[in-house]
Amino acid sequence: MKIVDLDFEPLIKADAIEKRVKAIGAQLNADYADTKPIFIGVLNGSFLFIADLIKQIDIPCEITFTKLASYYGGTKSSKIRDDIDFIMDISGRDVVVIEDIVDTGNTARYLIEKLKIKGPASLKLCSLLLKPKSLLSKIDELKYVGFEIENDFVVGYGLDYKEMGRNLKGIYKQVK
Ligand code: 5GP
Repeated sequence: MKIVDLDFEPLIKADAIEKRVKAIGAQLNADYADTKPIFIGVLNGSFLFIADLIKQIDIPCEITFTKLASYYGGTKSSKIRDDIDFIMDISGRDVVVIEDIVDTGNTARYLIEKLKIKGPASLKLCSLLLKPKSLLSKIDELKYVGFEIENDFVVGYGLDYKEMGRNLKGIYKQVK
């Protein structure tokens, strides 16, 4: 399948994503029962994951969003921009950050450090995808991972290549 100028092939099917999202949801319901957690969705790439995951949460919770990007329409990392200074008060609260993908881990680490300054009671990270071979150092807060994948560039289920492919139900990897 061609997206803009690159070729992609299927990597993770929609029904496998659905199953995994349900399992993570069940785990979060158990881990955060009686704590009224705040879920912070990191836009744009995680918008479908956030929506599907949050539908599996049946404990009282709050949901907010932050927008953050390290890729600008390409396939390589670049500078991070964010709007963390404008999010709700999270001091003394149990916070779960929902990300689309942890690659080098730079974005996640940056986000965690910025959020920690705001004094949450606890802070965990939930990412749909993780590229373990690309991760520069272990992220202790990364407790929930949907799928571990190879160092491929992927699109679909919210993830884009040059803003295209976000609408795909499954996840596709670039053909090298
Ligand atoms: P990191 O800072 O961990 O290297 O990169 C994290 C961010 O880079 C993700 O939130 C995502 O926006 C982007 N990213 C990393 N790998 C991929 C990929 O394979 N596909 C897409 N579409 N974005 C990626």
